[in-house]
Amino acid sequence: MSTCPADDRSTKRRRIEPPLAKRDPEGYHEDGDCVVRAENTLFKLHGFFIKRDSSVLRGLLEGDSKGAAVEGTDHAPLNRQGDKAQDWRCYIRYRYATPNELLPGRFLSTALTHLISFSRFASGYDMKEWAVWPHGILAHLIRTHANVYTLQDFTSLFDFAHELHHELLREATVIAWMQQIVSGRLSSADAMQVGERLGDRGFLTALYEHVLREQLSIFSLEQNARGPAAALNPSNRVDLGLPPLHTQRILSAYSTLTRAWAQLRQTPPPLLQHPQCKVASAPVPAERHTTACLNAHVNLWRVTFASVDAMSIPWTANGMRQRLECVRNTLLKGQVPGDVFGGYCRYVPSFARDDFLMNCFASVPLTTRRYLFGDEAEDAAAVRL
Ligand SMILES: [Zn+2]
Repeated sequence: MSTCPADDRSTKRRRIEPPLAKRDPEGYHEDGDCVVRAENTLFKLHGFFIKRDSSVLRGLLEGDSKGAAVEGTDHAPLNRQGDKAQDWRCYIRYRYATPNELLPGRFLSTALTHLISFSRFASGYDMKEWAVWPHGILAHLIRTHANVYTLQDFTSLFDFAHELHHELLREATVIAWMQQIVSGRLSSADAMQVGERLGDRGFLTALYEHVLREQLSIFSLEQNARGPAAALNPSNRVDLGLPPLHTQRILSAYSTLTRAWAQLRQTPPPLLQHPQCKVASAPVPAERHTTACLNAHVNLWRVTFASVDAMSIPWTANGMRQRLECVRNTLLKGQVPGDVFGGYCRYVPSFARDDFLMNCFASVPLTTRRYLFGDEAEDAAAVRL
């Protein structure tokens, strides 16, 4: 019951007289009392269902002040020739199904496009319950059959979710689509085109982050194979194999984040002299502090950054927070070279509001989107734009 058979349109030819309508082998219930024509197919069902489900169709069947009621027979069907026969077939199938037959697990992967079409059909006739019902099935299908769906399937569902502003369906599609892209079955460039057309920045950000991660792993593979010099070779031009628009955005995030990181590496937190350092370095308190403590402090900062730089962390906002976390942890371990001087002066990260690293954390936006699109306000609330 999960798929609609192909439309019965093989008989469609150019004729002068209107083509004869055929009874649908599945959707023509002899004991029904209302005949509907969609394309060249006749369906027969119980008018009671139609009238209850759709005020639009009820109006047509019962007639209004202007026109006569529709008879609803083979000779005078309720004429809905502009509808897809397939949508009516699906409607009748679902209407006459048992509750068990409508459980999400009963649907095959191929039902996806039919359900999207059916939901639009139901919504057009103001069949509110029937319009909403397929959404849950669609989310189930995209989660369980993602590995068989094509770019076209993903695009149709994504368009549909956007059309409805259906955040859950959109989210389910993004997750399933990203899985297929990460596994290498579907292309990120194709997905970017769709994301760009719909202006879906959340999706684009996920795609860009994926490209950044991929580049990072290629980069470290090359480094391992050819040594660090390979990475510094200026002839290694960046070619992500993507349209310039996307490459530019990805690289701008990369350059913003790497620049901020390089700056932080050069800027250790200010170090105040500890009172005991002053006492211990008498009679010239400043000298000991500037020669020993500050040097040790700068040295520790550099060593800490070098150890974090050796980790493969992607250049995303989230990656940036991971880096800062690593810096904090390394500093907290307290392997302070300054200790050999018996120094009292060191920077210890804290959770205080005015703490240097806390301020660094606070300055990293919650998502990479700000770097990619220059969104200032999005970090606070907006999930999608
Ligand atoms: Zn000192």
